[in-house]
Amino acid sequence: MTSRTFHAAILRNAAVLVPAPRRADWLAEWNAELCYIDRDATAFCLGSFRDALWLRCHTPGAIRRMFSMDSPLRCVLFLVSLVALTLSLIFPFRDLWRPLWSPPGAEQFALAILQMYLVALLVLAALWPPSLGDYPADPSGPSVKIRLRRWIFLAAKFVLLTPIPIFLSVALLPVFPGAPSILMFVWIFGFRWVLADQRRRCPVCLHFLSNPVTIGSPSQSVLGRYGTELACPHGHGVLYVPGAPTTWSSRQRWQYLSS
Ligand SMILES: [Zn+2]
Repeated sequence: MTSRTFHAAILRNAAVLVPAPRRADWLAEWNAELCYIDRDATAFCLGSFRDALWLRCHTPGAIRRMFSMDSPLRCVLFLVSLVALTLSLIFPFRDLWRPLWSPPGAEQFALAILQMYLVALLVLAALWPPSLGDYPADPSGPSVKIRLRRWIFLAAKFVLLTPIPIFLSVALLPVFPGAPSILMFVWIFGFRWVLADQRRRCPVCLHFLSNPVTIGSPSQSVLGRYGTELACPHGHGVLYVPGAPTTWSSRQRWQYLSS
């Protein structure tokens, strides 16, 4: 690798830290300045990381966007990271939980976990009925494959969330013997978050809906519409969320926009 290639690689790596809209200009500027550097070009290129980080920290909303779960892939990766993190926490205490996997212990442990899991689902259904809203079939709607992707995404979130409280309670056992008792509550609130997250997303691209607009007023909730409308940033449709649930309009309703 020539020194020129090496320095360009450093700059390209630093550019990852720069907010995407400004990345191309930033990289072009640094590459142009590099042409005039005769000595210590490596130190000059390493200084680009500091500049890129400064830009990232001082661009409004850049940090929030970096950790945003707007993209479904980012959401899944976040849950995978949590599974990996909680799994790594239990390894230092493997002598403690290893007896759980012996034949009688494993059976009792699995039954206790299953019992708590089912109770958590029942409590969730009783307190917050798991409704995702109305998504009526429409000729201008997406194909079966795209509609199926939405349910796979929901199932993936449920599956990934399930082991996190188990690993967490095992990791906390040495310092908090009552940790398994909080297992059920973490599941209840975790599953509630999964459903709320799903309701905030476009059923086609699975990105968060945006641009909430209040329509109507409380006095119009009988004969008119009163609530909030959100739109998909990619133009797939709009979601109407009733402001005051009534007997004829109690659930959010999605409307596809023809392409
Ligand atoms: Zn969309």
